[in-house]
Amino acid sequence: MERLQKVIAHAGIASRRKAEEMILDGKVKVNGKIVKELGIKVSSSDRIEVEGIPVEKEEPVYFLFYKPRGVISSVHDEKGRKAVTDYFPQIKQRIYPVGRLDYDTSGLLLLTNDGEFANLLMHPRNEIEKEYIAKIKGIPSKEQVRSLEKGIMLEDGKTAPARAKMLSLDKRKGTSIVQLTIHEGRNRQVRRMFEAIDCPVMKLRRERYAFLTLHGLKAGEARELTAHEVKQLR
Ligand code: URA
Repeated sequence: MERLQKVIAHAGIASRRKAEEMILDGKVKVNGKIVKELGIKVSSSDRIEVEGIPVEKEEPVYFLFYKPRGVISSVHDEKGRKAVTDYFPQIKQRIYPVGRLDYDTSGLLLLTNDGEFANLLMHPRNEIEKEYIAKIKGIPSKEQVRSLEKGIMLEDGKTAPARAKMLSLDKRKGTSIVQLTIHEGRNRQVRRMFEAIDCPVMKLRRERYAFLTLHGLKAGEARELTAHEVKQLR
């Protein structure tokens, strides 16, 4: 037996909070009857409908994917570009990415059909650490690297404290490799942070998400998260 709002969230229809609102608004039926209480528990034999549409109970699945460059972080692309879900043709569940990586960014991306799990991970309050390796144009000074760490003014506000480490530099080519660890998830944040110090990103890869790494995977490969990993992330 599971709480009604949890079943709706797990089906990928809405976050648990939104599911609660839908229940209170009288949009949810169990076995043909509108239910407006939040406490009720349902079993797999109960027929649930949200706004008249039956809720298909899908088995939750969780994947860690090494997204290659040149792939869009969505379920489908109107321009016909390759999408991350194209790498999972055998999965019948409707999976989608937890957050996004830019088209040109490679690296670690989680995919799931568990809406509640995805919402939880994406919530800013959770402050999940993400580690990026950036190849950048230019050789930043110590002060510039320090400014990435302290916080840098972007058009949508100052960035939160981060960790930045110069990994290597090529004086002849005038490029550097920097590891940047942030726990925010603003749009194109890493690229914008490097632009702000006049060192545009040439190549970007996400190496780590919380305690998960790309270890053992090549670009384009995925593995399922273990039950233990899913539990640790919650
Ligand atoms: N920051 C970026 O700029 N791009 C990404 O894809 C992820 C983080």
